[in-house]
Amino acid sequence: MSIKYSSKINKIRTFALGLIFVGFIVMYIGIFFRTSMWIMTLFMILGLLFIIASTVVYFWIGMLSTRTIQVVCPSCGKTTKMLGRVDLCMYCSEPLTLDPELEGKEFDEKYNRKKKKSW
Ligand SMILES: [Zn+2]
Repeated sequence: MSIKYSSKINKIRTFALGLIFVGFIVMYIGIFFRTSMWIMTLFMILGLLFIIASTVVYFWIGMLSTRTIQVVCPSCGKTTKMLGRVDLCMYCSEPLTLDPELEGKEFDEKYNRKKKKSW
């Protein structure tokens, strides 16, 4: 298991960036089919759809950002945004929770095992 954990907003942002890349790659592939106007147009539209989707995701991040809570990370001391009851610090990936009851519960299985066990 070598999955790198990051905060939710960072994850969505990476996803949106990925969509832009996919969109450009699809459009680039379309250029190879320039002999066939039909296929090229199809690829261009498909690529454009990916880019539009990414714009929508970016817009969604903006909406989510208004619902985040700013907290000061106890580990690195930076002000980070968290989404929901449990999230990770955007800078150092320190698990953060607003609910004292969840402390050490939800993160025990997934996150705490890798590091910060002594906490
Ligand atoms: Zn931190």
